[in-house]
Amino acid sequence: MKVLLYNPPNEPIKLAEGLWTVREYKHSGFNIPGINVISMARIAGDLREKVSGIQLTVQDARIQGQSPEAFYTMVASNHFDVVITLAGCFTIKHDLQYIPPQKNILKIVCPLPASIPVDELVEQYRPAADVLTTTEVNQPLVEALIEYAANGEITRTAGLMVRKRNVWSNTGPANLTDWSKAAPAAFELFPFKTYLDIQTKNKNIKFLYLTQFGCPYGCSYCSQAKQRLQMIDAKTVVEELQYFVDTIGFKNISFIDNEFPIVKKRSIQICKGIIKRGLQFSWTCSNRVELANDQLYALMSQSGCKSILYGLETGDPDLKKNINKTHDEKIVKSAIDLTRKHKMIPSSFLMFGIPGETKDSVRTTLAFLKRVGVEHFSTSILFPTPGSPLYRELKSRGKLKETDWSVYKYQTELLFEHDQYTSIKDVKRNQLWLTKRMFVHVAYRKMKAKKTVMTIAAFCAYFLYWISPSDLLFTIWKRLPVSMKSVFKRILVT
Ligand code: SF4
Repeated sequence: MKVLLYNPPNEPIKLAEGLWTVREYKHSGFNIPGINVISMARIAGDLREKVSGIQLTVQDARIQGQSPEAFYTMVASNHFDVVITLAGCFTIKHDLQYIPPQKNILKIVCPLPASIPVDELVEQYRPAADVLTTTEVNQPLVEALIEYAANGEITRTAGLMVRKRNVWSNTGPANLTDWSKAAPAAFELFPFKTYLDIQTKNKNIKFLYLTQFGCPYGCSYCSQAKQRLQMIDAKTVVEELQYFVDTIGFKNISFIDNEFPIVKKRSIQICKGIIKRGLQFSWTCSNRVELANDQLYALMSQSGCKSILYGLETGDPDLKKNINKTHDEKIVKSAIDLTRKHKMIPSSFLMFGIPGETKDSVRTTLAFLKRVGVEHFSTSILFPTPGSPLYRELKSRGKLKETDWSVYKYQTELLFEHDQYTSIKDVKRNQLWLTKRMFVHVAYRKMKAKKTVMTIAAFCAYFLYWISPSDLLFTIWKRLPVSMKSVFKRILVT
């Protein structure tokens, strides 16, 4: 049985739109330009080892690009029996073009995020797919291919939506993937040296490494909320890191796990493994403030962690309730202080456009950020990720204004009926208002702490940015090449 496992090429997403790309990969696992194929390599490893008689080909078209026509020709000339396409909800229109039209090929699509309701999956992917994975990917794919090889059809494998004579049926809850029995990821089938070249040329792209899926917390906007927590064990993680650092040569790695320290024992084992093997690389990760821990942070720092990202999103208690965030101010402050104590940079995600948000709540957030000592931050505008609790709620109440997922990342209009905002411009105005004030505040604190030419110049630059009457400087900033932005950021922010 000839099987192609395929990662469609990118839409022309500019890096300037990186925030959305970043949110997308964080919540769906695959979509970052040309880099993140970790999950794909894990699938390939399992299929290769567990499906006997399989002739597996993998193709990460994100790094080389490929027109749909060229793709169809390649599929036809290789006589594949099965094509498995990895699709992301925000790239859906684009990805649908990369499901081959040939009738004699079984077309399996693995849409992400996995929390999208099945009726919507069928609605969206119906035109092209024969089989859809629903919640799990690895285990149902293995079982489906074994069944297909034996019987020439798929009817019994659990965890799928299957089309037969244009009628779709649900095969029931998936058998769970047992990661302790997973085959080694097939990293050697992927051009990691090419990924390294991409990273070397563009320092803004980090090597994204995924070892954890699902999350026990319940942030309303997140498709990972309350999804089963699954993890690659510490020993495997350390071995994989050794391969990426020593064999491939990555020196900057970003764990895109939802919360790297979620299981403290495992995180400690990973850090100790890195230290014991002497792996030399810098890394970053995300965490919840509640999980900050002195012993663990000491080891993280010792093993090369440079920065920890906290999803604070807002400082307004009412807005926190609205997105089901639970962090308490004291805990936030102590997590930020602990991060600094261990010589790592605490960084924060902030979110705008939360239901209930007003100018006053944005002021409340500003005061909160000053009190807890945030200096590094990035901002985004809330959107309802398909499959997230917020998405389901808005949909059931008929409040979703836009149902085309492929426009979600652009945010040119409000995507849902907001109780306070009537236009996306108002959201962006508040986002800019807080960004400017935070930059000036941080620059002022730095200048006050240490008067040097650099700190004074940085303060003057941000002051100018603050008092500029419109978002002119922001517009210019957005248009600067990424490399130039990096230079400015190094001078002005760090
Ligand atoms: S902590 Fe919240 S935002 Fe982060 S992965 Fe979990 S549910 Fe999602």
